[in-house]
Amino acid sequence: MEILFLFIIGTIFGSFFGLLVDRIPAGESIIFGRSHCDSCNHILSFRDLIPLFYQLSSASLCRYCKSKIPLMNFILEFSVGLLFCLAWLNYLSLPQFLMSILSVILSAFDYRHHSFPFIIWLIFALSFIILFPSSLIFYSWLVLALLTEIFDFKIGSGDFLWFFTASFSISFFDEMKLLQIACLLGIIYYLMIKKRDEIAFIPFLTIAYLMLLFGHQILIR
Ligand SMILES: [Zn+2]
Repeated sequence: MEILFLFIIGTIFGSFFGLLVDRIPAGESIIFGRSHCDSCNHILSFRDLIPLFYQLSSASLCRYCKSKIPLMNFILEFSVGLLFCLAWLNYLSLPQFLMSILSVILSAFDYRHHSFPFIIWLIFALSFIILFPSSLIFYSWLVLALLTEIFDFKIGSGDFLWFFTASFSISFFDEMKLLQIACLLGIIYYLMIKKRDEIAFIPFLTIAYLMLLFGHQILIR
């Protein structure tokens, strides 16, 4: 029963994160303003706001204008619910749980907008610095992020910021492993599905991060 309760709480958080992804880049308030369909602007009713249920019951179509609701909202709600349960079952340590949540949020932003709001990363980064021990090597990722901003490397500074926060939950060696996995996944995606324009890389880092965490878990147990 507790696990179901936690899953529901997680989906509510996931739903809120989806709202952040929709509203922050559009410059809309995240506190005021009723939730509405992005296509027809119809205000959503209470039952439309129940996480997961809305998309499951409406086959991912807006009830009012029948336009497609992005699957990303459903994935966000489900994955955050799942992460809450996994943390509760001790499959994730606190830094790993927080990093997984941050990764899921940044992935959604990166996928949708090819960037993410610096303030969201900063809130998590400061929490990591305050709550968990750090080493000087972690900060080398910040130097790389800064260099990327100054010189135009072909990789976004956001990816290096992601690595800085990941350092609090996995070793540098594991970070190198997950970078290789993420690159491989990115190349496969690029070749098989999307052959033009730039691809969002943080979703691949997130998948590789979770693969590595649960790969370790399976090996240990
Ligand atoms: Zn609509």
